[in-house]
Formats: sequence, structure tokens, C-alpha cells
Amino acid sequence: MWLFVLQFKKQFAGTACTIRTQEVISTAKLTDPITILKGVGPTKAKQFANLNIFTLQDLICHFPRGYEDRTKLVPIEKLEVDVPACFKAMVMNTPRTTHIRKGLDLTKVQVADHTARLNLTFFNNKYAAEQLQYGREYIFYGAVSGDFIGYNMTNPVFEALDSQPITTRRVLPIYPLTAGLTNAAVLKAVRQALAICDVPREILPESVRQQYGILPAERAYYAIHEPGSMAEAELAKKRLIFEEFFVFSAGLALMRASRTQKKTESYVNLDMTPFYAALPFTLTAGQQRAVQDVLQDLSSGAPMNRLVQGDVGSGKTMVAAAAAYCAVQNGHQAALMAPTEILAEQHYQSLSKLFAPLGISMALLTGSMTPKQKQLVRQDLAEGKVQFAVGTHALLSEATRFQNLGLVVTDEQHRFGVAQRSRLSAKGTDPHLMVMSATPIPRTLALLMYGDLEVSVIRELPPGREPVDTFLVDESYRARINAFIRKQVAEGHQCFVVCPAVEESEELGIKSATVWAETLQKTVFPDLRVALLHGQMRGAEKEAAMASFARSEADVMVATTVIEVGVDVPNATLMVIEDADRFGLSQLHQLRGRVGRGCSKSYCILTSHSKNQETRLRMKAFCSTTDGFKIAEEDLKMRGPGDFFGSRQSGLPVFRVANLSMDLQTLQEAQAASAAWIDAEGTADTPEGIALRDRIGELFTRAEGTMN
Ligand code: ADP
Ligand code: MG
Repeated sequence: MWLFVLQFKKQFAGTACTIRTQEVISTAKLTDPITILKGVGPTKAKQFANLNIFTLQDLICHFPRGYEDRTKLVPIEKLEVDVPACFKAMVMNTPRTTHIRKGLDLTKVQVADHTARLNLTFFNNKYAAEQLQYGREYIFYGAVSGDFIGYNMTNPVFEALDSQPITTRRVLPIYPLTAGLTNAAVLKAVRQALAICDVPREILPESVRQQYGILPAERAYYAIHEPGSMAEAELAKKRLIFEEFFVFSAGLALMRASRTQKKTESYVNLDMTPFYAALPFTLTAGQQRAVQDVLQDLSSGAPMNRLVQGDVGSGKTMVAAAAAYCAVQNGHQAALMAPTEILAEQHYQSLSKLFAPLGISMALLTGSMTPKQKQLVRQDLAEGKVQFAVGTHALLSEATRFQNLGLVVTDEQHRFGVAQRSRLSAKGTDPHLMVMSATPIPRTLALLMYGDLEVSVIRELPPGREPVDTFLVDESYRARINAFIRKQVAEGHQCFVVCPAVEESEELGIKSATVWAETLQKTVFPDLRVALLHGQMRGAEKEAAMASFARSEADVMVATTVIEVGVDVPNATLMVIEDADRFGLSQLHQLRGRVGRGCSKSYCILTSHSKNQETRLRMKAFCSTTDGFKIAEEDLKMRGPGDFFGSRQSGLPVFRVANLSMDLQTLQEAQAASAAWIDAEGTADTPEGIALRDRIGELFTRAEGTMN
């Protein structure tokens, strides 16, 4: 997708349509600033700017977050306490205003319908005092309170019977707001905008709209702001969600199409026998299938774009190794990029053991190496002396040149900024691209993030692995936890203890790795070897600590989440996660994946003193499943797609209406529809095709803005 953005721009820039196919009957353009609206001066404009609304189009695309159904009129008698509702009533006396004190005026008035009477109270409401007239009927909207004997209502809104329905007798959209900006102000501005300019152009072909029961653009954009009923609001919303997904999927489909047209050298030497012979184990069926997929891609004559998905511990690294082996056998260089130095170092260590006997030259390139070391490696890469490079984003720097880069693999790729990956692949002429990711990416997100990639899934773990037993405990178990750590160490194993913070934090009671490591070493386990690892240590220090732990030179490793990604210490059998409620479920899953990688039974203990019911339920659910998919779905529901990867690194566009954890069905429909349409029509120069192309460009530009 990152490639998509760049290539899309190259490919389609300039073809963006200048032909206006629709007749412009409106007086304003979507690109006009909102300040042309009545009532929107500099102050209002600033408030709107806080919501990223600058143009009429932004405003029209500022969709309600919900609606209040004010269409039904309820007899006063049937009003329920604290449930706001609309009712028609006659004013039974002249409103009386009492000045209580400075800044507090109370206006009281009695109203009635044929079922009951009701006392209304308004605070500081001159308008009500002046407008409400004895003997006339109005439509009110408000909630009765139950704290007085008889009915009473405070500050209802009201409109005269013959007025235009604005706050009553309608489905009222509720907008996302910002300080100083009221719902009524947004409503008014949107209504004006809709009156003076056309809504965004139709991009969905009529056939698609009919097949999926989708409203036309014109109607949907009005109905989302001014629905005649709740049902219509739903239809409008569905249309707009569909539209977003359709645009996005069409973009990916176009990209895929343009990439499969690219030619690259077919690898012909596909003999993997020496590689398999060098492996200390047999590949699992899933690994073998993934390798087959990869080999097929490499020999296809088009650049590979493949995602290898597999839960933590499923052995993805070996698939990368196989791909690298094949690239090298065909005279190309390969690069494997890891998101952390520790992981790069570890990949380098284990892969060089495998590749040295095969006569393949490897090098490590990370940011913390000395300039001299880096320069040497870079020289070797440029001269082609190094066939397989493993590294961090140092592989991306300007200074790194490859002689003949044929394959780029990125590990745990969601941790990489999308732009970074594209920079690396730009270093070869359309190199083969493989991304590896732990499975727990919810289906919707996966479809979106990897919609332009082929996917291989490794479903099983290497043989002999037992699921990790997980427990949730509180502080009263501390002595037992310590005893359990001791027991594991006595049996020759090692333990991880993960804390949410590095240093003693301001927040009370949150364990910090630094302090906790010291406590454990000095007072709890003076006779054991306690090591410390956290993100604020220098690269070299981190590596030394991790390497030494992997060599079993420490018994207990107290760490922060730096160990989360990919680090492999098969001898570690216990993972204690302190203040586990501080972590997202997917993060917990990654952490738990650090143990259970060898043949011994492994355990994970979560400590938490959170009393929050929901939090505890969530963690309980985590204890009872090791299914990465389920955990990820749960996590996505809790946190939303933006936060799913810890930061906005996914490079996903910002969807305005769609909710990624909820709208899977719509996404699938939109994907099917866009694929079918692109297959049949491409983006022909039909009005819809042209509009669609523009919209794809817009959406991906927005996506790019959120990268890194
Ligand atoms: P991940 O998919 O999480 O990246 P790794 O590639 O780090 O998993 O593999 C996890 C562990 O399993 C490593 O120690 C690796 O050597 C081992 N391993 C990988 N494949 C197999 C296999 N087919 N049989 C036995 N062990 C394997
Ligand atoms: Mg891995």
C-alpha cells in the first residue's frame, strides 16, 4: 500500500480529471472556504479548523456521530423520567421571570396537552420568556425530572408549530464538536453548505448500487445530515461506509493490477536441497507451503508481494531464510529488515550459523555500529561481497547501496513505517517483497493493510510445543510468584519479568523495570542473576544484555516491552507481566509468545490490582485462549484501528464513517464490488471512473499524511 501511494501518484498524477461532467447548477464549489457561509467568521472558522474543516467539502463530509429521534410526539402523560422526548403542548399562563441573584434568572411557565399539565423552568433564558405566549401551542423537546412531586422539566427546547423543524419534529444529527462550537452551529453551517453547493460526485456505478441496495451519492449526502427517519440515516451511513471501502479497495485492486504487469527476472535455480539439508529440523507443513508460495512468486517473472502471516513462534524466519537462499542462488542480494536492534542481531546470529556452511556471506547493519563498521559493511554491500544483509532501518539510509538487490523481507512489519519499507524496496529495481507478521491482525485490518498483497498463512507451531498456561493474580500471590520463579530457575530455566515503565513513574503503584530489577536482585533473589533490559539503554548495552541472557548468563530478565518483538530464548519458560492491565491484549499476546518456544512447559503470570470489572474480564479472557485472532479482534474493539499497533504506523487511511471492527460485511461487499468493477471496466473515462480516480488519489494522500 505504501508503494501504492507513491506509484499511484506517479501513474495517475495529471490524469486526474479536469472535465466537469456534471452540470454545475450550484453557486458555490466544494473547494470554497467555509467562511463564505453566513455566520462563519474568523472565530467560527478557527473552531471548525480544530475539526480539520476548512472547505465546504470538509464540512459536508463532517458526518454525525449519532442521531436523536425527535420525530415522534409523545403525550405528556406518557413522558418518562429522564428520557428526552418531543411533545406538543399549549402554554397555560404568561411566563414569569424571577431574578434570583446576579447571573441567575428563572423563568417558569405551565404547559398542558389533553393528557396532563407540566411545569417548565428555564434558566437565564430570555428567549423563552419572550417567545412563549399564553394560549399558543408549541413543540417541545426535553426530559421530565422525577425529583419533584408532579411533572417538571428544565430547559426544554421548543419551536412554534408553523416554524421550520430544526430542533424538534425531526431526526437530529449529533456532530463531533470542539470547544466553543455547538451542535446547532454545525447543523446550521452544514444545512447552508448543502443548499449552495453540489455534494461530492457519484463514484459508485449504478449496477453496483442496485446490487447492494446502496443509496445514490446525492441522496446519501443529504440524508446523512438531514435524514427523514432513523432508517434513512442508517441507509445513508451504509452508503458512505461502502463508498469509503470501495474507493480504498479499488485503489488496492488497481495497484495490484499495475504491479502484476511489471516484469522482472524469473529465478530459475529453485533447487532448495542444500538449504533443507542444512536445517536442524524439518519444516512444518505450513512453513513448507509458504516456501512453495514464495518460490512460485520468485519464478513467476513478476515482483513478489507476499505477506507471510503466522502466530508468534510459528517459524516465519525460516521462510524468510528460504527466500533469501533462493535469491542468492540466483545471483541476487537479499535484505532482511527488523524493527529493533535486538531482533536484527538475533536474526543475524541464527541465520549466519545456518548460512555460513552454505557459503553465503552475511552482514549485520544497525544504527549503533560505529561509523567505521557501518562504512565497511556498506562498501561490501555496494560491491556485492555481502549476499544477505540483516539490519534495522540503517539499511534504509541514503548511504546504503546494494549492487544487485533482489529480495527485501521485513519482519514484524506492522512496526515499520510504511514509508520506510518503500524506501528499502526503492533500492533495487522492483525487488521481490515479502512481509512477515504475527497472525493476530483482525480480519478487517488485514484486508485493508494487505489488500494489495498475496498471503501465506502458517497455522501450526513446530511440533512439541504445548500452549502456555496463563494465570491472572493479585498482589496476595507475590510470595507464590517468587517461589515459582525460583522453581523454574532451579530446574535450569529462565524467566522474564516485564514491567510497564522504565523509571519510577509519577503514577502510583506502577512497577518500573529499573526499580523492580534492583528490588528483585537485592532483596528477593540475592543468590540469582537478575538482568535488566529497557528501551532507554544504549543499543549496544541492550544487545549485550539480551545476548547474555540468551547464553543463559542470567536467570531472571527484568524488562520493558522492548523484548516484545521476536526475541527468541527457548530456555525461558516463565513470563511474569506486572501491572498487566497497562498493556493492550495484542501486546500481552506478543509478550506471552516469548515463552513456550522450547520443548518445556511454559507459564505466563499476569499481575494486576485493577478492580475495573471490564479490565478483569478482558484479562480473564486472555488467560483462557491462546488464539491470536480472537485476542486481536477483542483488542481492536477496545482500542480502534488507529491505536491498534500502538501508534499510527499502519499507514491506513483515516476512515470517516467506517468502523473497522464492526463493518466487516460491508467491507467484504465493497471489496467484491470494486474488484468486479475494476476487472470489467477499469477506471475508464466514464464520469464515475474519473471521479473514482480522483477520490482514490485523495484518500491515499490522506493515508500518507498519517504515516510515520
Ligand atoms: P516467529 O514466527 O515468531 O518469527 P521464529 O522464526 O522465531 O518464529 O521461530 C521460533 C522458534 O522455532 C525458533 O527457535 C526456531 O528456530 C524454531 N523453529 C522454526 N521452525 C521450526 C521447525 N520446523 N521445527 C522446529 N523448530 C522450529
Ligand atoms: Mg519472528
